[in-house]
Amino acid sequence: MSDRLNVLHVKEPQPWFSSGLRFKCTGCGQCCTGAPGHVWVTDDEIASIADYLKMTIDEFRMKYLRLVGDRESLLEDSRTFDCIFLKDKKCKIYPVRPSQCQTFPWWPYNLQSEAQWNEAGKDCEGINHPEAPLISAESILQQKSLTAKQEI
Ligand code: SF4
Repeated sequence: MSDRLNVLHVKEPQPWFSSGLRFKCTGCGQCCTGAPGHVWVTDDEIASIADYLKMTIDEFRMKYLRLVGDRESLLEDSRTFDCIFLKDKKCKIYPVRPSQCQTFPWWPYNLQSEAQWNEAGKDCEGINHPEAPLISAESILQQKSLTAKQEI
């Protein structure tokens, strides 16, 4: 067998979460608050949220976005650092929330190790929740690849 074929037969290393991970969102709203941060939005997401709120894109940008470098992020409450759309622990734009929110907690940062995953679980009660379904490694990797493109 040639060296090239030998290389092709080398298996990808298994991720540490190859047996899957438990997660179920309880809707506690904790991931929309806490320390200051960014919720990045793309042009398509901006258009979709503005439409949902029955605003023009310009109105939406003026009222709810800030420019950070060359990217745009949702505003947060200047006192509590809650996401500007978190009201009474509920997301006011849930059906059109940005993909950064949709893909939480499957972010590369949270998945880099079991310790990091458990650390994320200190702020998110849905992580390792005893009643949560087991999410397969395949589904996790799919979600993770979406977030990697967003550079969260
Ligand atoms: S912190 Fe976790 S359980 Fe709570 S709303 Fe966010 S994802 Fe859901």
